[in-house]
Amino acid sequence: MLAGSLIAVLVKKIFIGRKWMNKKLLMVFVVCSVSFFCHFLLDAIPHKDYAIKSEFLFLSSVYLLIDMMIGSCIILFVFREPLMHFLRVVVSVNVSKIEVADNLKLASPFFLASLGVFFNILPDVFMVLKRILGMDFYILSQLEIFHNAMHSNIFPDLFWGWASQISFSFMVVVLLVRLVFKVENKIYSWLAVEEAERILSEVSQDREIEK
Ligand SMILES: [Zn+2]
Repeated sequence: MLAGSLIAVLVKKIFIGRKWMNKKLLMVFVVCSVSFFCHFLLDAIPHKDYAIKSEFLFLSSVYLLIDMMIGSCIILFVFREPLMHFLRVVVSVNVSKIEVADNLKLASPFFLASLGVFFNILPDVFMVLKRILGMDFYILSQLEIFHNAMHSNIFPDLFWGWASQISFSFMVVVLLVRLVFKVENKIYSWLAVEEAERILSEVSQDREIEK
């Protein structure tokens, strides 16, 4: 989850200020595909994993739920400013179309990060569909073969398993938290910088005209 949201941040950084055709579509495509394949690279790094044997299924689900809650809290905190713009669209009534469009633009880093998160955990969702729910499609079997080939041995040693995951997560969180910027004393995730600056300059131009 953390890696997916960081990929969204880094891809957006590459795309900022560039005038490519279909930039947004291309950006979404890059975030989704890089996040998806990043999952296999991360699986190749030895780590502590969830046991998917049937006798551990309940315990694994509990661990998974706790991990996903911690991950979600971190991501919601880092992307709180774009998230607020999205919530403003959801809860507000009687707002102009322009206001809705501007808020959605400022919320775009949150959407992009959500896509990164979704596509980064998708290979494991496929694994659950195949192994636990017994779905058997050709593409799922092929993906499982690739997934297993890429996967490192699950660290039997608790300490090193946790150590590799905690140090990786810490590194990603530090990177995410550092990548923020301020506009009019409000902290935005910096990937909204392009949109935020444009909207703020338009607002100040409007104020000038009103004067
Ligand atoms: Zn995996």
